[in-house]
Amino acid sequence: MDTKKLLEESDKYLMHTYGRYPIVLRKGRGMKVWGSDGKEYLDFVGGIAVNCLGHCHPKVVIAIQKQVQRLIHVSNYYHIEPQIRLAKMLVENSFADKVFFCNSGAEANEAAIKLARRYCREVLGQDRYEIITARNSFHGRTYAALSATGQEKFHKGFEPLVPGFRHVDFNDIEALSGAISKETCAILLEPIQGEGGVRLPDPDYLREVRRLCDEHHILLILDEVQTGIGRTGRLFAYEHFDMSPDIMTLAKGLGGGMPIGAMLATDKVSAGFQPGSHASTFGGNPLVCAAAATTLDVILEDGFVLDQCRRMGTLLAKRLSELQDEFPNIIAEIRAMGLLVGMELTRDGAPAVKACMERGVLINCTSGNVLRFMPALIVTEKEIDHLVEILEQVFDTLS
Ligand SMILES: *Cc1c(COP(=O)(O)O)cnc(C)c1O
Repeated sequence: MDTKKLLEESDKYLMHTYGRYPIVLRKGRGMKVWGSDGKEYLDFVGGIAVNCLGHCHPKVVIAIQKQVQRLIHVSNYYHIEPQIRLAKMLVENSFADKVFFCNSGAEANEAAIKLARRYCREVLGQDRYEIITARNSFHGRTYAALSATGQEKFHKGFEPLVPGFRHVDFNDIEALSGAISKETCAILLEPIQGEGGVRLPDPDYLREVRRLCDEHHILLILDEVQTGIGRTGRLFAYEHFDMSPDIMTLAKGLGGGMPIGAMLATDKVSAGFQPGSHASTFGGNPLVCAAAATTLDVILEDGFVLDQCRRMGTLLAKRLSELQDEFPNIIAEIRAMGLLVGMELTRDGAPAVKACMERGVLINCTSGNVLRFMPALIVTEKEIDHLVEILEQVFDTLS
Protein backbone atom coordinates (compact mmCIF):
# COMPACT_ATOMS: atom_id res chain seq x y z
CA MET A 1 0.00 0.00 0.00
CA ASP A 2 1.39 3.45 -0.80
CA THR A 3 2.16 5.99 1.91
CA LYS A 4 -0.70 8.37 1.11
CA LYS A 5 -3.28 5.57 1.38
CA LEU A 6 -1.72 4.27 4.63
CA LEU A 7 -1.89 7.73 6.19
CA GLU A 8 -5.56 8.07 5.16
CA GLU A 9 -6.47 4.69 6.63
CA SER A 10 -4.45 5.35 9.80
CA ASP A 11 -6.46 8.51 10.31
CA LYS A 12 -9.71 6.73 9.51
CA TYR A 13 -9.32 3.59 11.65
CA LEU A 14 -7.10 4.51 14.60
CA MET A 15 -8.30 6.46 17.60
CA HIS A 16 -6.69 9.86 17.62
CA THR A 17 -4.65 9.51 20.81
CA TYR A 18 -1.31 10.45 19.22
CA GLY A 19 -0.11 13.50 17.32
CA ARG A 20 1.73 11.47 14.69
CA TYR A 21 4.24 12.61 12.07
CA PRO A 22 3.17 11.88 8.49
CA ILE A 23 5.55 8.99 7.84
CA VAL A 24 5.06 5.22 8.09
CA LEU A 25 8.05 3.33 9.49
CA ARG A 26 8.42 -0.11 8.00
CA LYS A 27 11.90 -1.45 8.67
CA GLY A 28 14.77 -0.90 11.10
CA ARG A 29 18.38 -2.04 11.59
CA GLY A 30 20.65 -0.70 14.30
CA MET A 31 20.33 3.10 14.44
CA LYS A 32 18.46 3.31 11.11
CA VAL A 33 14.80 3.07 10.17
CA TRP A 34 13.17 3.26 6.76
CA GLY A 35 9.82 4.76 5.79
CA SER A 36 7.25 3.18 3.47
CA ASP A 37 8.49 5.55 0.75
CA GLY A 38 12.01 4.13 1.12
CA LYS A 39 13.42 7.21 2.90
CA GLU A 40 16.15 6.46 5.44
CA TYR A 41 16.24 8.02 8.92
CA LEU A 42 18.83 8.05 11.69
CA ASP A 43 16.81 7.24 14.82
CA PHE A 44 17.61 9.28 17.95
CA VAL A 45 14.16 8.54 19.43
CA GLY A 46 14.68 4.78 19.69
CA GLY A 47 11.04 4.07 20.49
CA ILE A 48 11.35 6.49 23.45
CA ALA A 49 14.30 4.80 25.19
CA VAL A 50 13.03 1.33 24.21
CA ASN A 51 15.40 0.14 21.47
CA CYS A 52 18.48 0.09 23.70
CA LEU A 53 20.37 -2.23 21.33
CA GLY A 54 19.05 -0.54 18.21
CA HIS A 55 16.50 -2.02 15.83
CA CYS A 56 16.37 -5.77 15.26
CA HIS A 57 19.60 -6.61 17.11
CA PRO A 58 20.63 -9.99 15.62
CA LYS A 59 20.94 -11.77 18.99
CA VAL A 60 17.50 -10.53 20.11
CA VAL A 61 15.98 -11.54 16.75
CA ILE A 62 17.41 -15.06 17.07
CA ALA A 63 16.25 -15.39 20.68
CA ILE A 64 12.71 -14.43 19.63
CA GLN A 65 12.80 -16.79 16.62
CA LYS A 66 13.93 -19.72 18.79
CA GLN A 67 11.40 -19.04 21.52
CA VAL A 68 8.48 -18.43 19.16
CA GLN A 69 8.92 -21.94 17.79
CA ARG A 70 9.18 -23.52 21.22
CA LEU A 71 6.49 -21.82 23.33
CA ILE A 72 4.77 -18.43 22.95
CA HIS A 73 2.49 -18.30 25.95
CA VAL A 74 1.42 -20.27 28.99
CA SER A 75 -0.36 -19.21 32.17
CA ASN A 76 1.47 -18.03 35.25
CA TYR A 77 -0.20 -20.98 37.00
CA TYR A 78 2.90 -22.80 35.75
CA HIS A 79 6.60 -22.05 36.05
CA ILE A 80 8.14 -20.45 32.96
CA GLU A 81 11.80 -21.02 32.07
CA PRO A 82 12.72 -17.69 30.34
CA GLN A 83 10.87 -15.81 33.13
CA ILE A 84 12.96 -17.55 35.80
CA ARG A 85 16.15 -16.81 33.85
CA LEU A 86 15.27 -13.12 33.46
CA ALA A 87 14.23 -12.69 37.11
CA LYS A 88 17.53 -14.23 38.25
CA MET A 89 19.52 -11.84 36.05
CA LEU A 90 17.63 -8.79 37.37
CA VAL A 91 18.05 -9.88 41.00
CA GLU A 92 21.74 -10.70 40.60
CA ASN A 93 22.39 -7.29 39.10
CA SER A 94 20.31 -5.07 41.39
CA PHE A 95 19.40 -4.35 45.03
CA ALA A 96 16.28 -6.50 44.65
CA ASP A 97 15.43 -10.05 45.78
CA LYS A 98 12.18 -10.65 43.92
CA VAL A 99 10.57 -9.68 40.59
CA PHE A 100 6.98 -9.37 39.36
CA PHE A 101 6.47 -9.17 35.59
CA CYS A 102 3.83 -7.18 33.74
CA ASN A 103 3.55 -5.58 30.30
CA SER A 104 4.31 -1.85 30.55
CA GLY A 105 5.69 0.95 32.68
CA ALA A 106 2.28 2.06 33.89
CA GLU A 107 1.47 -1.48 34.99
CA ALA A 108 4.80 -1.78 36.78
CA ASN A 109 3.96 1.38 38.73
CA GLU A 110 0.44 0.09 39.49
CA ALA A 111 2.06 -3.05 40.91
CA ALA A 112 4.51 -0.96 42.96
CA ILE A 113 1.73 1.23 44.38
CA LYS A 114 -0.37 -1.82 45.25
CA LEU A 115 2.61 -3.58 46.88
CA ALA A 116 3.52 -0.50 48.96
CA ARG A 117 0.00 -0.12 50.36
CA ARG A 118 -0.40 -3.83 50.91
CA TYR A 119 2.98 -4.09 52.67
CA CYS A 120 1.96 -1.39 55.14
CA ARG A 121 -1.36 -3.08 55.91
CA GLU A 122 -0.42 -6.78 55.80
CA VAL A 123 3.18 -6.80 56.99
CA LEU A 124 3.46 -3.72 59.21
CA GLY A 125 -0.17 -3.79 60.30
CA GLN A 126 -0.46 -0.02 59.82
CA ASP A 127 -3.22 1.70 57.88
CA ARG A 128 -0.95 3.99 55.84
CA TYR A 129 -1.76 4.55 52.20
CA GLU A 130 -0.53 7.96 51.05
CA ILE A 131 2.17 8.14 48.37
CA ILE A 132 4.21 11.29 47.82
CA THR A 133 5.38 11.93 44.27
CA ALA A 134 7.06 14.83 42.47
CA ARG A 135 5.62 17.68 40.46
CA ASN A 136 6.50 17.43 36.79
CA SER A 137 6.84 13.65 37.12
CA PHE A 138 5.50 11.03 34.74
CA HIS A 139 4.45 7.55 35.84
CA GLY A 140 2.04 6.37 33.13
CA ARG A 141 -1.58 6.61 31.96
CA THR A 142 -3.53 4.03 33.97
CA TYR A 143 -5.51 5.51 36.86
CA ALA A 144 -3.16 5.09 39.81
CA ALA A 145 -0.07 5.83 37.69
CA LEU A 146 -1.87 8.86 36.26
CA SER A 147 -2.81 10.02 39.76
CA ALA A 148 0.82 9.64 40.79
CA THR A 149 1.92 11.71 37.79
CA GLY A 150 2.56 15.30 38.87
CA GLN A 151 1.41 17.11 35.73
CA GLU A 152 -2.08 18.54 35.46
CA LYS A 153 -2.15 18.41 31.66
CA PHE A 154 -2.36 14.61 31.87
CA HIS A 155 -5.15 14.72 34.50
CA LYS A 156 -7.42 17.13 32.67
CA GLY A 157 -10.90 15.72 32.09
CA PHE A 158 -10.16 12.38 33.77
CA GLU A 159 -11.10 13.34 37.32
CA PRO A 160 -11.85 12.04 39.88
CA LEU A 161 -8.38 10.58 40.23
CA VAL A 162 -7.33 7.84 42.65
CA PRO A 163 -7.10 9.35 46.15
CA GLY A 164 -3.96 9.15 48.29
CA PHE A 165 -1.36 10.95 46.18
CA ARG A 166 0.41 14.14 47.19
CA HIS A 167 2.81 16.09 44.96
CA VAL A 168 5.84 18.15 45.98
CA ASP A 169 8.59 19.88 43.99
CA PHE A 170 11.31 17.55 42.65
CA ASN A 171 14.75 18.05 44.16
CA ASP A 172 13.36 19.90 47.22
CA ILE A 173 14.14 17.79 50.28
CA GLU A 174 12.50 20.29 52.65
CA ALA A 175 9.21 20.11 50.74
CA LEU A 176 9.36 16.32 50.78
CA SER A 177 10.09 16.22 54.47
CA GLY A 178 7.22 18.63 55.14
CA ALA A 179 4.74 16.49 53.20
CA ILE A 180 5.33 13.34 55.28
CA SER A 181 2.44 12.54 57.61
CA LYS A 182 1.25 9.54 59.64
CA GLU A 183 -0.65 8.50 56.49
CA THR A 184 2.47 8.31 54.30
CA CYS A 185 3.39 4.82 53.10
CA ALA A 186 5.80 5.55 50.25
CA ILE A 187 7.69 8.10 48.19
CA LEU A 188 7.69 7.48 44.43
CA LEU A 189 10.26 9.25 42.24
CA GLU A 190 11.97 9.04 38.88
CA PRO A 191 15.75 9.29 39.50
CA ILE A 192 15.81 11.62 36.48
CA GLN A 193 12.55 13.14 35.27
CA GLY A 194 12.36 11.97 31.66
CA GLU A 195 9.06 13.16 30.18
CA GLY A 196 9.36 16.20 32.46
CA GLY A 197 12.32 17.41 30.35
CA VAL A 198 15.38 15.37 31.44
CA ARG A 199 15.60 16.99 34.89
CA LEU A 200 18.50 15.67 36.97
CA PRO A 201 18.49 15.54 40.77
CA ASP A 202 21.16 17.27 42.83
CA PRO A 203 23.96 14.77 43.56
CA ASP A 204 22.86 14.14 47.17
CA TYR A 205 19.07 14.48 46.74
CA LEU A 206 18.26 10.76 46.35
CA ARG A 207 20.54 9.83 49.25
CA GLU A 208 18.70 12.32 51.43
CA VAL A 209 15.35 10.94 50.27
CA ARG A 210 16.60 7.48 51.27
CA ARG A 211 17.59 8.77 54.70
CA LEU A 212 14.18 10.43 55.15
CA CYS A 213 12.43 7.17 54.21
CA ASP A 214 14.48 5.16 56.69
CA GLU A 215 13.86 7.69 59.46
CA HIS A 216 10.06 7.58 58.96
CA HIS A 217 9.77 3.88 57.95
CA ILE A 218 8.49 4.85 54.53
CA LEU A 219 9.12 2.84 51.36
CA LEU A 220 11.13 4.36 48.54
CA ILE A 221 9.93 3.45 45.06
CA LEU A 222 12.09 4.44 42.11
CA ASP A 223 10.46 4.57 38.70
CA GLU A 224 13.33 3.52 36.42
CA VAL A 225 11.05 2.81 33.47
CA GLN A 226 13.01 5.33 31.37
CA THR A 227 16.35 5.50 33.21
CA GLY A 228 16.85 1.74 33.72
CA ILE A 229 18.52 -0.88 31.50
CA GLY A 230 21.73 1.02 30.86
CA ARG A 231 20.25 4.29 29.63
CA THR A 232 22.31 6.43 32.03
CA GLY A 233 25.55 4.46 31.64
CA ARG A 234 24.89 2.15 34.59
CA LEU A 235 22.40 -0.71 34.47
CA PHE A 236 20.14 1.30 36.82
CA ALA A 237 20.30 5.04 37.48
CA TYR A 238 20.19 4.65 41.28
CA GLU A 239 23.71 3.16 41.08
CA HIS A 240 25.05 6.66 40.36
CA PHE A 241 23.71 8.01 43.65
CA ASP A 242 25.13 5.70 46.31
CA MET A 243 21.73 4.53 47.54
CA SER A 244 19.08 2.00 46.62
CA PRO A 245 15.26 1.88 46.72
CA ASP A 246 12.91 -0.68 48.29
CA ILE A 247 10.93 -1.07 45.08
CA MET A 248 11.92 -0.31 41.49
CA THR A 249 9.89 -0.33 38.29
CA LEU A 250 11.20 -1.11 34.80
CA ALA A 251 9.80 -1.33 31.28
CA LYS A 252 10.87 0.56 28.11
CA GLY A 253 14.40 -0.79 27.38
CA LEU A 254 13.90 -4.07 29.25
CA GLY A 255 12.57 -6.12 26.33
CA GLY A 256 14.88 -4.71 23.66
CA GLY A 257 11.67 -3.67 21.84
CA MET A 258 9.29 -6.32 23.17
CA PRO A 259 6.53 -5.10 25.53
CA ILE A 260 7.46 -6.04 29.09
CA GLY A 261 7.41 -4.33 32.48
CA ALA A 262 8.81 -5.41 35.82
CA MET A 263 8.46 -4.47 39.47
CA LEU A 264 11.39 -5.41 41.69
CA ALA A 265 11.54 -5.36 45.47
CA THR A 266 13.44 -6.59 48.49
CA ASP A 267 12.32 -9.82 50.17
CA LYS A 268 11.07 -7.84 53.14
CA VAL A 269 8.70 -5.72 51.04
CA SER A 270 7.75 -8.56 48.66
CA ALA A 271 6.12 -10.25 51.67
CA GLY A 272 3.22 -7.81 51.11
CA PHE A 273 2.05 -9.99 48.21
CA GLN A 274 0.81 -13.56 48.60
CA PRO A 275 -0.60 -15.88 45.92
CA GLY A 276 -3.67 -14.13 44.52
CA SER A 277 -2.69 -10.59 45.63
CA HIS A 278 -1.75 -9.40 42.16
CA ALA A 279 -1.47 -10.93 38.70
CA SER A 280 -1.15 -10.40 34.97
CA THR A 281 -2.23 -12.83 32.24
CA PHE A 282 0.56 -11.90 29.85
CA GLY A 283 3.06 -10.74 32.48
CA GLY A 284 6.42 -12.47 32.03
CA ASN A 285 5.27 -14.50 29.03
CA PRO A 286 7.94 -16.85 27.57
CA LEU A 287 8.40 -14.88 24.35
CA VAL A 288 8.96 -11.43 25.89
CA CYS A 289 11.15 -12.84 28.65
CA ALA A 290 13.38 -14.64 26.13
CA ALA A 291 13.85 -11.33 24.31
CA ALA A 292 14.50 -9.43 27.55
CA ALA A 293 16.95 -12.01 28.92
CA THR A 294 18.96 -11.85 25.70
CA THR A 295 18.87 -8.03 25.74
CA LEU A 296 20.29 -8.07 29.28
CA ASP A 297 22.85 -10.71 28.26
CA VAL A 298 24.15 -8.43 25.52
CA ILE A 299 24.22 -5.39 27.81
CA LEU A 300 26.04 -7.23 30.60
CA GLU A 301 28.20 -9.50 28.41
CA ASP A 302 31.56 -7.71 28.60
CA GLY A 303 30.75 -4.19 29.69
CA PHE A 304 31.04 -2.89 26.12
CA VAL A 305 27.47 -1.57 25.85
CA LEU A 306 27.50 0.38 29.12
CA ASP A 307 30.97 1.69 28.35
CA GLN A 308 29.88 2.81 24.89
CA CYS A 309 26.79 4.46 26.42
CA ARG A 310 28.94 6.47 28.84
CA ARG A 311 31.48 7.47 26.19
CA MET A 312 28.89 8.40 23.56
CA GLY A 313 26.74 10.17 26.18
CA THR A 314 29.70 12.34 27.19
CA LEU A 315 30.51 13.01 23.55
CA LEU A 316 26.94 13.92 22.61
CA ALA A 317 26.62 16.28 25.59
CA LYS A 318 29.94 17.93 24.63
CA ARG A 319 28.93 18.39 20.98
CA LEU A 320 25.58 19.83 22.03
CA SER A 321 27.32 22.27 24.39
CA GLU A 322 29.45 23.43 21.46
CA LEU A 323 26.22 24.00 19.52
CA GLN A 324 24.94 26.00 22.47
CA ASP A 325 27.99 28.28 22.20
CA GLU A 326 27.14 28.73 18.54
CA PHE A 327 23.40 29.36 19.07
CA PRO A 328 23.05 30.94 22.54
CA ASN A 329 19.75 32.55 21.55
CA ILE A 330 18.15 29.21 20.71
CA ILE A 331 19.71 26.76 23.19
CA ALA A 332 19.19 27.43 26.89
CA GLU A 333 20.70 24.36 28.58
CA ILE A 334 22.02 20.83 28.00
CA ARG A 335 21.12 18.20 30.62
CA ALA A 336 22.46 14.69 30.27
CA MET A 337 23.28 11.45 32.01
CA GLY A 338 24.59 8.71 29.74
CA LEU A 339 22.40 8.60 26.66
CA LEU A 340 19.39 10.30 28.20
CA VAL A 341 20.08 13.75 26.85
CA GLY A 342 17.93 16.87 26.93
CA MET A 343 18.48 20.18 25.17
CA GLU A 344 16.26 22.93 26.48
CA LEU A 345 15.41 25.54 23.87
CA THR A 346 14.35 29.11 24.44
CA ARG A 347 11.37 28.36 22.17
CA ASP A 348 8.93 25.64 21.09
CA GLY A 349 10.82 22.54 19.94
CA ALA A 350 8.31 21.26 17.36
CA PRO A 351 9.75 23.14 14.34
CA ALA A 352 13.24 21.73 15.02
CA VAL A 353 11.86 18.17 15.27
CA LYS A 354 10.06 18.60 11.95
CA ALA A 355 13.09 20.13 10.22
CA CYS A 356 15.36 17.31 11.46
CA MET A 357 12.88 14.72 10.19
CA GLU A 358 12.86 16.32 6.76
CA ARG A 359 16.65 15.99 6.81
CA GLY A 360 16.48 12.30 7.75
CA VAL A 361 17.06 12.46 11.53
CA LEU A 362 14.41 11.49 14.09
CA ILE A 363 14.50 13.33 17.43
CA ASN A 364 11.90 13.85 20.15
CA CYS A 365 10.62 16.91 21.95
CA THR A 366 9.17 16.72 25.47
CA SER A 367 7.71 19.35 27.81
CA GLY A 368 7.20 21.68 24.84
CA ASN A 369 10.75 23.01 24.50
CA VAL A 370 13.16 20.22 25.46
CA LEU A 371 14.68 18.26 22.58
CA ARG A 372 15.37 14.77 23.87
CA PHE A 373 17.87 12.28 22.44
CA MET A 374 17.59 8.58 23.38
CA PRO A 375 19.61 6.68 20.77
CA ALA A 376 20.63 3.03 20.96
CA LEU A 377 23.30 2.54 23.65
CA ILE A 378 25.60 1.35 20.85
CA VAL A 379 25.34 4.57 18.82
CA THR A 380 28.64 5.52 17.15
CA GLU A 381 30.65 8.75 17.02
CA LYS A 382 29.90 9.03 13.29
CA GLU A 383 26.16 8.92 13.96
CA ILE A 384 26.46 11.56 16.67
CA ASP A 385 28.48 13.76 14.30
CA HIS A 386 25.72 13.41 11.72
CA LEU A 387 23.02 14.39 14.22
CA VAL A 388 24.99 17.46 15.30
CA GLU A 389 25.60 18.47 11.68
CA ILE A 390 21.86 18.31 10.97
CA LEU A 391 21.00 20.20 14.16
CA GLU A 392 23.47 22.90 13.14
CA GLN A 393 21.79 23.24 9.73
CA VAL A 394 18.36 23.33 11.37
CA PHE A 395 19.30 25.99 13.95
CA ASP A 396 20.87 28.01 11.16
CA THR A 397 17.52 28.15 9.36
CA LEU A 398 15.66 28.89 12.63
CA SER A 399 17.91 31.70 13.84
C1 LIG B 1 7.23 5.84 29.75
C2 LIG B 1 7.18 5.92 31.23
C3 LIG B 1 6.15 5.31 31.97
C4 LIG B 1 4.98 4.64 31.32
O1 LIG B 1 5.35 3.50 30.59
P1 LIG B 1 4.28 2.81 29.61
O2 LIG B 1 4.99 1.57 29.17
O3 LIG B 1 4.00 3.78 28.52
O4 LIG B 1 3.07 2.53 30.42
C5 LIG B 1 6.22 5.37 33.35
N1 LIG B 1 7.23 6.00 33.98
C6 LIG B 1 8.23 6.59 33.30
C7 LIG B 1 9.35 7.26 34.04
C8 LIG B 1 8.24 6.60 31.91
O5 LIG B 1 9.22 7.22 31.24
